[in-house]
Amino acid sequence: MVDLRSQYENIKDEINREIQGVIDSTAFVKGGKVADFQHHLEEYLGVKHVIPVGNGTDALQISLMALGLKPGDEVITPTFTFIATAEVVALLGLTPVLVDVDPHTFCMSPEAAEKAITSRTKAIVPVHLFGQNADMEALMQIAQKHNLYVVEDACQSIGAEYTFPDGRREKSGCMGKLGCTSFFPSKNLGCYGDGGAIFTNDDTLADEVNCIANHGMRVRYHHDRIGVNSRLDSIQAAVLDVKLKYLDSYTASRQRAAAFYDSAFGQCPYITIPAHNLHSSHVFHQYTIQLAASIDRDALKAALNEKGIPAMIYYPIPLHLQKAYHSERYKKGDFPVSERLSQSVLSLPMHTELDDEQLRYITNTLLPLVEQCKK
Ligand SMILES: *Cc1c(COP(=O)(O)O)cnc(C)c1O
Repeated sequence: MVDLRSQYENIKDEINREIQGVIDSTAFVKGGKVADFQHHLEEYLGVKHVIPVGNGTDALQISLMALGLKPGDEVITPTFTFIATAEVVALLGLTPVLVDVDPHTFCMSPEAAEKAITSRTKAIVPVHLFGQNADMEALMQIAQKHNLYVVEDACQSIGAEYTFPDGRREKSGCMGKLGCTSFFPSKNLGCYGDGGAIFTNDDTLADEVNCIANHGMRVRYHHDRIGVNSRLDSIQAAVLDVKLKYLDSYTASRQRAAAFYDSAFGQCPYITIPAHNLHSSHVFHQYTIQLAASIDRDALKAALNEKGIPAMIYYPIPLHLQKAYHSERYKKGDFPVSERLSQSVLSLPMHTELDDEQLRYITNTLLPLVEQCKK
């Protein structure tokens, strides 16, 4: 699905030099490289504060902790997402309130979110799924009207831009009170291990997030609150600082590959290509098609694999149907869009190193296979 090896080969000298530099400095944790990367990412995003942490899941957890939410408070998240989004809500003793997604963008439906609001609702966590921003104009309006925090899960969407109706343009993760991202190797800006970050324009929240991520400590060995230990190490920061320079060109490569897929699949009656949110750019963390109900998805996936083409199902089970999240609140059929998507989506290889020959092979192989996989 990704080709991290070829990507590395193209920037090997720079990466090796930077990693060697960290080793020579022995500043493995909280080295200058972390601060360098932090400031470069703040500049890139146009956000006041980037706070690096250990991974994207920690970023989400620390963000919710920083808002001072209490057990029983409700947090609205989409049911069609990676588990981490709701997991941290549940872990903190908050109540995840799941809602359905938009059938075209796969992101949280603003109408569904508004309907789910109760007197206990404190926050909304939209996920910019597969690299495209959720309908932030509508979600921010709803949040404002009901006095709710917005925490963006931008783990898949770093660099995606959103244009508000007044023309204001913001980067993904920089629109809500707090935004979270992941630097897991296969993410759009990936390091060589685990990493993540929190974005905010709020000075007080930035201070609180820093404090929580560092054992609840502002002055050494003085613990103001219960915190966690979550940090980005200097080797990962060094890798990220190199790769950040290439992020826009990496995004352009992904968009080029997506356009190739779009034009190859656009006329196929059994395939729905990804829809574009008119207000957001798409950075294609995943290129995800929907297959017609008449196509046997498992057979197609197996046939592709046989031809050396990986394909993955993100995500096969919506959160409300997961064993660990079983609740009296929800049953099968409650979220028809997410349930249909979980049965029909298929993600194809998407990365920065796809060339025309590979794309032609994938599309020329897939199209006849779809026909053969009719139920
Ligand atoms: C990857 C991801 C996370 C978690 O990030 P980690 O760094 O793996 O902890 C959270 N939410 C979404 C939508 C993700 O894709």
